[in-house]
Amino acid sequence: MTPDRLYTARDMAKIGCDDCKGCSYCCQEMGESVVLTPFDICELTQHLGRSFDELMEDKIELYMTDGMVLPNLKMSGETKAYGSKEVCGFLNEEGRCSIHAFRPGLCRLFPLGRNYEIKQMETEDGIKEIKGFQYFIVKDSCPNLNGTKVKIEKWLGIPNLKKNEEFITTWHYFCKDFQEEIQELLKAGEDDKVKKINLSMLELFYRKPYEKERDFYEQFEERMKVFD
Ligand code: SF4
Ligand code: SF4
Repeated sequence: MTPDRLYTARDMAKIGCDDCKGCSYCCQEMGESVVLTPFDICELTQHLGRSFDELMEDKIELYMTDGMVLPNLKMSGETKAYGSKEVCGFLNEEGRCSIHAFRPGLCRLFPLGRNYEIKQMETEDGIKEIKGFQYFIVKDSCPNLNGTKVKIEKWLGIPNLKKNEEFITTWHYFCKDFQEEIQELLKAGEDDKVKKINLSMLELFYRKPYEKERDFYEQFEERMKVFD
């Protein structure tokens, strides 16, 4: 389905929601949908001082989509404040995000989505493919949209957004290719190989700590070179 309108990060979009006052709808009963990128894990591990394995004890979990195993935020039930309702482990009793300053990318994005696209560009060296994405408002997602326009880059609040968008694009297409490769292996009955490459991917991009003193994107690019 093509979205009605696409936006760049420099555009204004009607996504104002009164600073989410009194609402935590998108932090509840989200199943496995809040999938985490290596950048999210770098942020969570460094700000919380907990390793990937420690986060796996209560805040995140692994889930398989199209044969690829990725981490997502864990929704846990039976809390004092929310009863049996499944809520994110980072949602506090006042209904606010306890890790707001370093919350994952998909949390920052809501109620926006990303529309990925490969454009063909004519260059002196022939046709070149440019991969990227634009934003769109996910219909009927946030119940509190009040019609106020907000600049998308301000909404996301991600430092060095251009670099982050390049990373998001690279990671999206990496996962897409990875999933296609896995589907072929599964068809060929290579289940053990699928398990092994999933474990290697998780180790390389998620479990292996990112150095705090160094730029995340530089470290990510180094790790991506394994697949060149
Ligand atoms: S559903 Fe909308 S108003 Fe509610 S917490 Fe999410 S973004 Fe904020
Ligand atoms: S990390 Fe924060 S914003 Fe994201 S789902 Fe959890 S409580 Fe909500």
